[in-house]
Amino acid sequence: MRVLVTGGAGYVGSHAAKQLTKSGHQVVILDNLAEGHRPAAGSTPFVSASLLDRERVVAAMSEHKIEAVMHFAAFAYVGVSVKDPAIYYQNNIVGSLALLDAMRGAGIDRIVFSSSCATYGIPERVPITEDHPQHPISPYGFTKLVIEHALADYSHAYGMGYAALRYFNASGAAADGTIGEDHDPETHLIPLLLQVALGQRESVDVFGTDYPTPDGTCIRDYIHVDDLATAHVAALEKLKPGMALKLNLGTGHGASVEEVVTLCREVTGHAIPVRKTARREGDPPALVADPSAAKRELGWQARYSIREIVESAWKWHKAHPKGYND
Ligand code: UDP
Repeated sequence: MRVLVTGGAGYVGSHAAKQLTKSGHQVVILDNLAEGHRPAAGSTPFVSASLLDRERVVAAMSEHKIEAVMHFAAFAYVGVSVKDPAIYYQNNIVGSLALLDAMRGAGIDRIVFSSSCATYGIPERVPITEDHPQHPISPYGFTKLVIEHALADYSHAYGMGYAALRYFNASGAAADGTIGEDHDPETHLIPLLLQVALGQRESVDVFGTDYPTPDGTCIRDYIHVDDLATAHVAALEKLKPGMALKLNLGTGHGASVEEVVTLCREVTGHAIPVRKTARREGDPPALVADPSAAKRELGWQARYSIREIVESAWKWHKAHPKGYND
């Protein structure tokens, strides 16, 4: 298929674009490079444009005879979305609606959408199944939920086929070491710990040690970015016009912050000092996916363990201590 990948110069988008190409699809990346990195797109055809630039989006769709869209382009910092919700509403909601409009105009009826476990808010139960109530507690999570609703309505009314893939904690880097995680500022646990191992930071704060979990620190479901990418390709290949897929993408296994710290110490051989600090606002104690629907619907399940995630991330960070340096 000829696939437009929005946000294909970003973290998850670049890994998905790479796997799409490997699976024989023709990929065109569209990214405004607000958060993405041009080198992450490699030699894939690249259109530098915002989703709000309708003329350029429509032109890219028609010039490349696009048949389906993978939509990653969005801001994804939960904390920033609380402090400055306007740019999240504008970029994630208005931008996505503009994309859907352009797709309708171009007669493109398949989209894989990058959603999030942040749409669930504070979970009432774990592991989380897809029918768990969605009550996001951040503007970021809300923007993702709004687009899930829009997709459901567009599917019903216009026959658009969609997959809303709700990621848990995306982490790790491509096995060949060519692309990986590079956020500015970095806020995610694993890259922060690895930056300490590289001597770029003194220590990492452990946010909360009094949670109702076995060791008192938060539990998350860390999923390898290449496993996410594989699920995206499988979803795209399954989609038909009018089809609606809402799937959690996680491993089904949780790891605590303390476990992740220990693992990063083992993999890097560095002491990685940490400071125990107060809880971070809005962090639920445990977020773990029930990934059985994705297995049933797509025949997909995560292949990589948390150790392999940390090893691949370490390989990337060691080889690219300044990220893409762009
Ligand atoms: N965390 C932490 N210190 C940090 C960053 C994160 O203790 O400097 C914890 C955070 O509270 C959460 C887990 O690590 O329980 C994963 O956080 P991250 O920001 O990587 O992803 P999130 O779960 O927020 O999407």
